[in-house]
Amino acid sequence: MRPRSYWGWGYEDAALEPERRRQLALLVGTQIDASQLAALAPRPLDAVALPPPRVAAPAALAPILRFDARERAGHTYGKAYRDVVRALRGEFEPAPDAVALPRSDAEVAAVLEWCSENGYAAIPYGGGSSVVGGVEARCKADFPAAVSIDLRRLAGLIEVDASSRAALIAAGTYGPAIEDALKPHGMTLRHYPQSFELSTLGGWLATRAGGHFATLHTHIDDLTESLTAITPRGTIETRRLPASGAGPAPERLLLGSEGAFGIITRAWMRVVPRPTFRASSTVRFADFYAGARAARALAQSGLYPANCRLLDARETLLNGVGDGSASFLLVAFESADHPLDAWLERALELCREHGGVPGGGEAAPRLDLADGAGDDASARWRRMFLRAPYLRDALIELGVVVETFETAVLWRDFEALHRSLLETAQRAAGAVCGSALVTSRITHVYPDGAAPYFTVIAPGRAGSHVSQWDEIKAAVSDAIVAGGATITHHHAVGRDHRPWYQEERAALFGASLRAVKAELDPAGVLNPGVLI
Ligand SMILES: Cc1cc2nc3c(=O)[nH]c(=O)nc-3n(C[C@H](O)[C@H](O)[C@H](O)COP(=O)(O)OP(=O)(O)OC[C@H]3O[C@@H](n4cnc5c(N)ncnc54)[C@H](O)[C@@H]3O)c2cc1C
Repeated sequence: MRPRSYWGWGYEDAALEPERRRQLALLVGTQIDASQLAALAPRPLDAVALPPPRVAAPAALAPILRFDARERAGHTYGKAYRDVVRALRGEFEPAPDAVALPRSDAEVAAVLEWCSENGYAAIPYGGGSSVVGGVEARCKADFPAAVSIDLRRLAGLIEVDASSRAALIAAGTYGPAIEDALKPHGMTLRHYPQSFELSTLGGWLATRAGGHFATLHTHIDDLTESLTAITPRGTIETRRLPASGAGPAPERLLLGSEGAFGIITRAWMRVVPRPTFRASSTVRFADFYAGARAARALAQSGLYPANCRLLDARETLLNGVGDGSASFLLVAFESADHPLDAWLERALELCREHGGVPGGGEAAPRLDLADGAGDDASARWRRMFLRAPYLRDALIELGVVVETFETAVLWRDFEALHRSLLETAQRAAGAVCGSALVTSRITHVYPDGAAPYFTVIAPGRAGSHVSQWDEIKAAVSDAIVAGGATITHHHAVGRDHRPWYQEERAALFGASLRAVKAELDPAGVLNPGVLI
């Protein structure tokens, strides 16, 4: 297997090259005070001390249980900023005692039975790209053991139903493997979260992931026809139907359940023919909020662009899309059925009505940190989208506090919330770190609202990186709730968002979730501490 970093994002051989690290450091130095950064250096895995495992493998499970340092260290954290920092510092107290690698539904059930009988915490693990503490055994001290259950061996395309345009896919299949397998059938799942390279179908379903398409079917939910989940009480397999009015939808109980109710092992997903027609443009806006009003007009027009992403001026600089002097809306349409020129023309007309100037962004960027074809602004943005996690890790190694937060809010409240979040993030990061760069973009648009997304880049202090970010995060999360928005549009709840999630959900709904968990997981071992 291609070796993956045990402490950060991605494959070891894909880390950012030295010359690009230098360019990145120079650019960051123009935006924040980088004179006193406390760099963090990864240590070799054999220099990392892990707490000894508290369990041994029972004979029946020995072939699928691992206790070695690489597996345990690699399954200790997700990929949030605070996870990468702790791993770089060699802090592995929450390491699972064992990592299970089941190869079948029967083996998933056997691992769950072992955990339930012995009261071991059982933590489902897909690609481990959670940014909300979703895969971390933070509950470890309350349980005699914690077992990370990695689905990577339950992978692959199982069946294609071409006439119904659906595909049965195993839950441990990573994004690129899904698309590779569907390609010979001329199909695509059309779901591209930024973590696509190293996240799985099961993780997407369990967290209700959002892909990069900006309108219509933004979340994995809408692409899900049916799914199978193994719980400590047995298996739930929902029916394949195009639609049904028969009571609450069973798969909706498991979508977003974050491993607390059961382990999803496969799902029938709605697939579509690969697009052959494309039309796209960038649109320049002197004012970000004029761009937001154009995005709203597009969202309410019924045109449903595949991309409708508004980057503020500073985002354009970091993404190599522009020079940092204006906001850019990236508009794109795609279809496997018809040319899209008329759609694009109408979209640009709407943008012009809001002061947008189509084109631009092609000037030589101050930063181009990713290789790939195409040199227009949209192509550069696409390259940076998938390369960004590697850049983030390089910044973390430099000693920079670098993290994102996101939300969704009604258009009615959008502008006030966006201003308040920018101000709160800037103030909190300035107070905690001395200086800060806060950038934002709109990632998804709906007829009734939008999903704004923010990046914070600030100088870290030795030994305080995690607490610095935690303070900023608490301030912006309070502002999100106060502004009537949601604690997450697509990053999920996990352990980190739970206090704010509990504030936004109805108490009776919370009680209902607890009742469902008590029924499906009577021993309370499945991913303790997420959601509930
Ligand atoms: C750089 C970066 C970019 C990201 N971009 C996006 C984005 O664009 N859109 C987005 O939605 N999210 C994004 N995320 C967050 C993350 O990738 C998603 O939450 C993703 O859906 C997690 O998938 P995974 O396979 O890695 O799951 P994991 O991180 O392994 O697990 C996530 C949660 O799901 C549970 N789980 C995993 N597999 C199963 C299963 N088979 N059955 C039951 N429970 C399970 C875990 O216990 C955990 O609670 C990003 C994260 C990073 C680090």
